[in-house]
This record gives sequence, structure tokens and C-alpha cells, in this order.
Amino acid sequence: MHNWVENLLEVQRIDIRMAKLQAQFDSVPGDKAAAEELRRSDEQRLAAAREAVLTFEKELKTIELDVEALKSKKAGIQSKSAMIKNNEEYRAAMHQIEQYDHQVSQIEDRELEVMDRIEKARADLAECQRVLDVTKRRVAEVQGDLDKRLAASRDALAEMAKIRQPALAAVEAQAAQRYERLRASGRSRNGQAVLVPVRDGVCGRCRMNVTAQLRMNALKGMPVTCQNCGAMLYSED
Ligand SMILES: [Zn+2]
Repeated sequence: MHNWVENLLEVQRIDIRMAKLQAQFDSVPGDKAAAEELRRSDEQRLAAAREAVLTFEKELKTIELDVEALKSKKAGIQSKSAMIKNNEEYRAAMHQIEQYDHQVSQIEDRELEVMDRIEKARADLAECQRVLDVTKRRVAEVQGDLDKRLAASRDALAEMAKIRQPALAAVEAQAAQRYERLRASGRSRNGQAVLVPVRDGVCGRCRMNVTAQLRMNALKGMPVTCQNCGAMLYSED
């Protein structure tokens, strides 16, 4: 293998490693946002559960006031009824009292239902709180890991950049320029190689046939470009 090829392959190894590190670095904000989103949705669930408890408690309060009102009306009639001399009026008063009792017993049935709902809503609230606590701990862990990932990939990238400079300087100038141009053209996106071997007569990048003439030139160590994908080709022999 020609000298420039070996040297440039070393640069490319560094670049591929750097692309991976960069991808790790770039993925941190998205992963952080996803973790945040988990916490936020559990917080929303907790808020809804709290709201449900409050709603049922308000309903219970209203029921209790209604019962009190009916009971005080009943007491009013009871105290007046002692004074009634007329039979018909007395019966009417007794009938009214019965009606109040009936209404109270209906409302009290409803009261039991609402108390039952409050109990369930409170249990749900406690469960939501428990889930949120677990999520918060997990999210904090994940955020910590992500901060570490961010710092580690940033440091590693800085280290690799230091190594890259002399590695590139060691490459024959024209080859280095071609390689840099190719990288700038976006062909190395996602850390894809742009310097590839011709193997079994095909380009190592796009797998299309390479002409015999180009293969020969590659063997001689000349600058050869794949006519299909534009990769820099070299011969492994
Ligand atoms: Zn190709």
C-alpha cells in the first residue's frame, strides 16, 4: 500500500471516531428533553389526580350543606308542629317532615358514593405521587449520565482534534486536499468512509464496478475517483 494511503487511512479512522463522538455529543439535548418529558407527563397526571380529589371534596361539602339545610327545615317544622291544633295541618306538617327525611336519606346515599370516590381518588393521588417520585429519581440519574456523556464526548473530541492535525499533516498534500474536499462535500456524513479500497473490482463504498484502467491507476498509487459515488479509491495490494 502506498504511503499516502496509509497516512490518509489513519486520518479517516480519526474522522470516523470523531463523527461517532459528535453524534453522541449531539444526541444529549434530545435525550435530556425526552427524560424531561417523562417527568412532565407524570407531573400532569399528579395534578389531574389532585384536581379529582378536590372536585369530589367540594361535592361532598355541598352535600353536607344540603343535608344540614334539610335537617334545619325539618327541625323548624317539628318545633312548630307542637303548637298546631288543627288535625289537617298537623298531618300536612308530618307529611312534610317525612318528605324531608326521604330527601335526606337520598342525599346521604349520594354522600356515601362521593366519600367512596374521594377514597379512591386519594389512593390514586398517592399512587401518582409515588410514580412521580420514582420517575424523578430515574430522570435525575439519566440527566447525570447524559451530563457525563456530554463531557466525555466533548473531551474525547478535543483530544482527537489534537491527534488529527499532525496525522493530516503527514499526508501528501494533494491527497490530503482531495480528501478534505470530499469530506466538505458531505460524502462523509455520519462518519462514512470516503477513502475506500477497490476490492474484487468494485468500489468499497458504492459496490459499483471500477474500470480496469482505474484499478491499474489505483495499483500505481495514483489519485483515483469512483465514477459512480466520487469516493477516493486505493488498492490494497
Ligand atoms: Zn463508488
